[in-house]
Amino acid sequence: MKIDVLTLFPEMLDSLNSSLTGKAREKGLYELNCHNIRDYSADKHKKCDDAPFGGGAGMVMMPQPIHDCISAVDTEHTAKRIYMSPRGKVLTQALVRELSNEQHLLILCGHYEGVDQRVLDMDIDMELSIGDYVLSGGEIPAMVLIDSVLRYVPDVLGNSESTVDESFSQPLLEYPQYTRPQEFLGVSVPEVLVSGNHANIDKWRKAQSLEITRKNRPDLLEGK
Ligand code: SAM
Repeated sequence: MKIDVLTLFPEMLDSLNSSLTGKAREKGLYELNCHNIRDYSADKHKKCDDAPFGGGAGMVMMPQPIHDCISAVDTEHTAKRIYMSPRGKVLTQALVRELSNEQHLLILCGHYEGVDQRVLDMDIDMELSIGDYVLSGGEIPAMVLIDSVLRYVPDVLGNSESTVDESFSQPLLEYPQYTRPQEFLGVSVPEVLVSGNHANIDKWRKAQSLEITRKNRPDLLEGK
């Protein structure tokens, strides 16, 4: 998979060089290119934002640098072009899985009050939100999208089963996990997990999953 990120703050994406996404990049399992939108500004001072027409607070990202950057990076429009935006469709595990089948993602990160609507209408395929709250820029949402999608790219996860049994991949949230030591500060792991009886372990885990889902996300159980 090839991923192009368009941003005014490319250094923010550096943390993708750590942990799972960093290892996957080192192994060549995906290609990540960060493009500084400012490099494409035709303004002599490399200006990329201006006041909104009609008045109002803040600044709006100008269409020209973004349009030129997108045109240079994805000349034939072969990428799925995504604008990270709080007003977008909310990212779900199902959508993550769907996007992991794309060969090429282009992700536009907004800042300030957002982006001139004309460039979104001309150049963007979909708007994606990571949740019902507002962040100051699209870089963290872009990293959320990249991390979640890469987990479905073959060989990125050490154990290919890991996406199968986790929260949201099943209808229920994940059950509690325990590891060594068997007793920690006087608290033992649930007896059933060290019983060796796998049927009972499965039953216990399902019951725990149901309880956690009912408590934290009853909406996931509606109609089920
Ligand atoms: N004025 C915009 C609005 O009310 O919808 C918010 C702009 S926000 C301060 C600046 C940028 O952060 C947005 O252009 C977008 O790229 C990004 N952003 C903020 N919250 C986000 C979210 N929940 N999901 C995805 N991107 C978000």
